[in-house]
Amino acid sequence: MFFHVVTTTECNLQCRYCFGETMDDFDEDFGDFELDYALPRKADYPVEALNGFCQKDPDCVLTFYGGEPLLNMDFVRQVMDQVSARHFMIQTNGQLLHRLESKYVNRFHTILVSIDGEEALTDHYRGKGTFRKVIDNLKLITANGFNGELIARVTVMEQTDIYKQIMWLLDNSEFSFSSVHWQLNAGFWGNDYGRRDFKRWSQESYIPGVDRLARFWADQMGQKGVVLRLYPLLGIANSMLLDKEPSLMRCGSGWINYAIQTDGYITPCPTMWGMKKYYLGHIAESHPLKLKKVFVQNTPCRDCDILGVCGGRCLYANITKRWNDQAYGEVCQTVRGLVNAVELELPRIRRLLEEGKICLSDFEFLKYNGCEIIP
Ligand code: SF4
Ligand code: SF4
Repeated sequence: MFFHVVTTTECNLQCRYCFGETMDDFDEDFGDFELDYALPRKADYPVEALNGFCQKDPDCVLTFYGGEPLLNMDFVRQVMDQVSARHFMIQTNGQLLHRLESKYVNRFHTILVSIDGEEALTDHYRGKGTFRKVIDNLKLITANGFNGELIARVTVMEQTDIYKQIMWLLDNSEFSFSSVHWQLNAGFWGNDYGRRDFKRWSQESYIPGVDRLARFWADQMGQKGVVLRLYPLLGIANSMLLDKEPSLMRCGSGWINYAIQTDGYITPCPTMWGMKKYYLGHIAESHPLKLKKVFVQNTPCRDCDILGVCGGRCLYANITKRWNDQAYGEVCQTVRGLVNAVELELPRIRRLLEEGKICLSDFEFLKYNGCEIIP
């Protein structure tokens, strides 16, 4: 099982799609969901309780998460010192990585670091100077011996030219990432759709950009024999080539990937913090392998013809329905665009596999590592 360990709810950045949106959603009604707004700001349970919980599952993987998880660095150290886990991973904005000693950093199996592409765009979304600090810290941890997977985690919205930014992340003079993942800022907030230009951007820029990326991705397989680790493409192709079963929620939320709040209660996903109706137990008394499973139950996913490929995209979005049906449909068009883009390249990929230019193992990855696969 995979667990996001929320070390703190605090963050040291004020990104547009996160802090900015909470400001604009300030007076928003959260419908029927009873929310616990009084969660402790920092993890407030004994580390021994987390160890006791994790020890019941030999495949327990812990991913530090926030807010910004490194704002509670002492807790990260304590957990890594005292908890038996199969792997430790972290999702971080990268601003404080230089302060965590190498003996901890070098034990991370995977680091997912937030960066949105080039300097100007990253700083536009995340604040001036953010990009430079991330790059400096990544160079430092690499020089200090980190050799796990380093995933550039990109948040995408209307100011993003997806093709241009992902291409930059793949080939630039600043830093070489092991992998790239992107996620749309769509369906998380209640009030943003009306003031945004999501429909035009997704149809005119994003979907054509994903098409170009998929073509480039397959070109690289043919020309260089490499399968670039572009997670949304990799994850879908992995299923089409290797899986026989329909996909469940691809991020794993609600069935194999859960979140542990700062008070020790367990929810299906970190974004569902405080949603009391979805508390699935507490680390002090629950068994990690016996947690209740929560699947997508609402329309339109429930009746969707590509549910087995998409997996439902986002459990939180499906449950809370922050965006109306029309807006939700526009997000689904991006999913269809992505799936079509990969499907179009499949005959070429299969041919390259038969010719031995690439192999099936090139499409393997540690599933549920924090990459949602469906952005
Ligand atoms: S494409 Fe849309 S409706 Fe279909 S499963 Fe995915 S998120 Fe749900
Ligand atoms: S895709 Fe949705 S359900 Fe999955 S981890 Fe992200 S916010 Fe949670």
